[in-house]
Amino acid sequence: TVKTRFAPSPTGFLHVGGARTALYSWLYARHQQGEFVLRIEDTDVERSTQEAIDAILEGMNWLGLSWDEGPYYQTKRFDRYNALIDQLLAEGKAYKCYCSRERLDALREQQMADGEKPRYDGACRHGDHDHPADAPSVIRFRNPTDGAVVFDDHVRGRIEIANDQLDDLIIRRTDGAPTYNFCVVVDDWDMEITHVVRGEDHINNTPRQINIYQALGAPVPEFAHVSMILGDDGAKLSKRHGAVSVMQYRDDGYLPQALLNYLVRLGWSNGDQEIFSLEEMIELFSLDAISKSASAFNTDKLLWLNQHYIKSLPADEVAGHLQWHIQDQGIDASKGPALAEVVTLYAERCNTLKELAAQSRYLFEDFAEFEAGAAKKHLRPVAAEPLALVRAKLAELADWQAPSIHEQINAAAAELELGMGKVGMPLRVAVTGIGQSPAIDGVIALLSKEQVLARIDMALA
Ligand code: GLU
Repeated sequence: TVKTRFAPSPTGFLHVGGARTALYSWLYARHQQGEFVLRIEDTDVERSTQEAIDAILEGMNWLGLSWDEGPYYQTKRFDRYNALIDQLLAEGKAYKCYCSRERLDALREQQMADGEKPRYDGACRHGDHDHPADAPSVIRFRNPTDGAVVFDDHVRGRIEIANDQLDDLIIRRTDGAPTYNFCVVVDDWDMEITHVVRGEDHINNTPRQINIYQALGAPVPEFAHVSMILGDDGAKLSKRHGAVSVMQYRDDGYLPQALLNYLVRLGWSNGDQEIFSLEEMIELFSLDAISKSASAFNTDKLLWLNQHYIKSLPADEVAGHLQWHIQDQGIDASKGPALAEVVTLYAERCNTLKELAAQSRYLFEDFAEFEAGAAKKHLRPVAAEPLALVRAKLAELADWQAPSIHEQINAAAAELELGMGKVGMPLRVAVTGIGQSPAIDGVIALLSKEQVLARIDMALA
């Protein structure tokens, strides 16, 4: 069975590039009815933090990218890595290297001066290099010197690297810590990963890692190296482009479904289809349809998708996400209408949930003042008569539903021989405190009769 993984290094939040890699990996596992593993690559103890681990888990959870195994932590597996390094040493597939930093620096400088790619020259490979008996050492992997590493990347096609282009990689540092390239191989082997989906920035590691698999007698997984995400200005996506942390998108009022749909299309396609439910993504996703070229982030398109999902997901589901914004904006939702009804009322009008929460505040809270511009225009001094009449009609109304409310407003306008705007606008400002809202009958239906009458009284006062 297929098994994929997402293996972030916890040195920061979950950014959109990582989230897309995680999504592709997750989708492929789900598509194949396989399994998805989460592994935290925390071997760099200097830069890894618990905060970053929490942020990554929070991002994965918010997006709904559930894992079947893990999270595993590399720092808990050092004994395993070290046992395998000792085994490679015993088999002669790895060796101790005593080269000093000074020697390696000098070598590097010389190679650069000669216009060569800096690489280790293998001085300790044959064990004949002079060194003091107690000198500190690292362990290097004995990379094959002839032949080539060949693999068929699902995104980038056939890749072939001659072994004489690769040097002997350090797999254990002087301080005894196993290094990243070695840990990844051991983990992917032990966790029985069949497909490695990761960023293109790792593609140079892959031939080295394949040699390590072979030295360990481990099966080599398949690979899919996903291209970079660029900002809309063509530069590599960074903080400069605004929100790059997945949770920042939540804070800005996006639905996870919109971000997932956006990310799946950012570098993958199925004909010219733009909208994908999660079920469709799972059904249609394939590694071979991932695009080779870098993709540029387009906030307008994300916004468009967000508006689409606010309108078309079940209101209950959207309401669950709106709840967070209501709280974030310090609004007490316990005193207002059901959030699903607020979503239904506002779905057409808002691109983000942040906006939706801000615009619907008056449904949950009374206000002390009317917005000055709106009040000047619609409330005073002209509106006393229509407001008083609507108030009287609403006070009598038993059936507190939008259609009946609508009839009363119409009746008041007809009686006074006024256009709807001359009644509706003052009423809107009276009831909402502001100049814009969805249809006023729908708004009024979500408030209680007491609230509405009190607010009209405040406008009449
Ligand atoms: N830990 C690596 C990173 O965060 C990913 C390694 C991999 O996927 O093989 O870039």
